This record gives sequence, C-alpha cells and structure tokens, in this order.
Amino acid sequence: MMNAHTQPRDHWPVVGHGWAVAQLRRSLAHGRVRHAYLITGPASVGKTTLARAFAQALNCVGDRPPCGACRPCRLIGQDVHPDVPIVQAEREGGALKIDQVRELQQSLALRPVEGRFRVPILLRFHEATPAAQDALLKTLEEPPPHVVMILTADRADALLPTITSRCQLLLLRALSFDETHRGLQETFGVPPEAADRLARLSGGRIGWAVRAAQDPALLEARAAALDQLEAILRADRVARFRYAAEVAKQPAALRDMLTLWQTYWRDVVLLASGSGVALVNIDRLPALQAVAAHIGPERAADGLEAVSGALERLAQNANTRLTVEVLMLDLPEVATGRLEAASL
Ligand SMILES: [Zn+2]
Repeated sequence: MMNAHTQPRDHWPVVGHGWAVAQLRRSLAHGRVRHAYLITGPASVGKTTLARAFAQALNCVGDRPPCGACRPCRLIGQDVHPDVPIVQAEREGGALKIDQVRELQQSLALRPVEGRFRVPILLRFHEATPAAQDALLKTLEEPPPHVVMILTADRADALLPTITSRCQLLLLRALSFDETHRGLQETFGVPPEAADRLARLSGGRIGWAVRAAQDPALLEARAAALDQLEAILRADRVARFRYAAEVAKQPAALRDMLTLWQTYWRDVVLLASGSGVALVNIDRLPALQAVAAHIGPERAADGLEAVSGALERLAQNANTRLTVEVLMLDLPEVATGRLEAASL
C-alpha cells in the first residue's frame, strides 16, 4: 500500500501549493498546456517561484522536468533564459507600461531562441496600466502557438475581466504553519528554532520568512511597523493624517506594511471572539489582548476590514494618499492607558 512516505517526493522547487503544482504537472503530462496562466495570492506567498518552476518544466531537457540541473532549468532559475523574459513595473508600486507590453509582443512573434516555448512572466500585472492591459489582450486572444504566458497579481479582480477570463487561474493562499516550518528547514536549511519563530511571524508567507532568515533587518522593520500601528491606535485624527501624508510617499513599502497589519488585526479578531486558533504575532500578545478587550469583536472586525479594504483598493490602483487617509479614519481608537500599559 502506498502512503505518504513511500510516494516519491515532489521535486518541483516550490514550497507548499501542492494542488497547483499537481494541476500544472497534469496539464504537462497530458499535453494540455494552456496559452495563459494567472497566478494570484498575497505578497511573498510564492507566486513568482511557481511561475519560474512552470517555465522550467515547460523547457526542461532533463529526465524529470523541472530537473533544475539542465541548461534551460539553470538559466530560467537565474532569470536569464532568452525565451523566458521577466516583464514588470520598474519598481514595486510603479506602473507596467504599454511600451513594455509592445516590446514583449514583438519578441513573441518570433520562434523560441533555444527553448520549446516562449514563456514570458509578467509580474504584479495589477500594476499594468489600463492601456498596457488592453494591449496584452491582443496576444491573449490570438496567442502564437509556441507561447505560454504567465501573469502574477495580488488579486484577479484587479485586472480587466477580459484578461482573467482568458487565463487559467491559480489562486494561491498563505501556507499553513507546518508547510512554512518544514519548507524553511528542508528547503532553506533554517535551524528548527528560527524556523518555528519565522513560520509563525510570516503568517504563511514563505518568501518573507526566507528573507527574514537571511536579513535580521526585516524583523526590525516588522517590529517598527507594528509599533507604528499601535501608536496610530492611540493617536488623534490630526496625528493620523500627518502619518498618512508621510507613509503615502512610499507606496512599495506600504503594501508590505498593510499585509502585516492585516495579520495583526486577524489576531485581534481571533482574541476578541475567543477563538482558540493560533495567533501569528504571538510576540505581541499583551498588546493584542489589550486591544481586543478594549474594542470587542465587532470593532475588531471593522479594523480588519479597514486594512483589507485599503489593500484591495491599492491593488486596484486607487490613489495612495486618499486610501491611507480613509484607513486612518476607519481604524478604531484605543484608549491610551490600556495599550501603553500592555507594551510596558
Ligand atoms: Zn531541466
């Protein structure tokens, strides 16, 4: 009888998302590869990694694609394969422009340089301007036979419906604690104790956990961002608006920060509703408990909704400053004494 231990381990270089890997493997095995895929999910959850692995599997010349060792696999792993161009906004939070799409389209008309398929990977496609999205439609409607396009985005509804309807959707979710924990140890060699801590703090965003394992500054930035949130909860409207003006100047950092704040509010909701589910920001327990006790389950849900709503609007290219100002108005106030006492 087969059990989990006798089955061959999946060799795709992807932590978690087993169902998505299985789906892509099946389409490869049965020769039913689609012309376009859209991978969505929270930041740092593994969207780009999955896209790269699929591009490797499509062009691998080894025995078990993606073998990771053949020339195509290696070049794709380093983002330098001529048939697997990476197209993205010049910086995170910027705009992917129509000229970039046009330039890509010219190259797609030609046969692959050395691979079987041309597999352009268009990262954070929610940052594409409407004109750029519109331009890509032409290729999605009449894709050249040797082209497989992979798009990534925070959310599918941030793209034109005409784009998403022409793509095979792969909706990635945050990994479980166990998946993150195991991945950190087995794939990235993080020692057990650090893996435990980072798996919890990451909230299932493996990419963040890996970067934090290599760069302690990320943990400091996380602590600072949560200090900031707790300061805002105590602050009056004037101070909150001053903060909004400041933070709106760094749109790229903003998305990461709000994703973190979302985990904080989810913890507050869990505590306020008396749920026994494991918390993410366990190192902040006293402050989380103070906030939960003070505002109760309903306003805790409002807080979570405010942060999630802001992330959603930013993914749809709403005005950054306005979005943060609305968020500042929507976040509940917490009486000073309680939160300060908790952080002492
Ligand atoms: Zn290979």
